Amino acid sequence: MKLKCPECDGDIETKEVIEGEILNCNDCGAELEVTKSKKGTFELKVAESEGEDWGE
Ligand SMILES: [Zn+2]
Repeated sequence: MKLKCPECDGDIETKEVIEGEILNCNDCGAELEVTKSKKGTFELKVAESEGEDWGE
């Protein structure tokens, strides 16, 4: 299964996609969390592990 990195638009390949799992982008090193969209497809969002405030 292939997902797209929201940071660098690179492809991330993973055997299994589990919601809530953290993946690392090989290209930019971003920590990405697997989330499920409303459409039921999996997508990645940047996992903010350094306590940044999202504000919403
Ligand atoms: Zn990336």
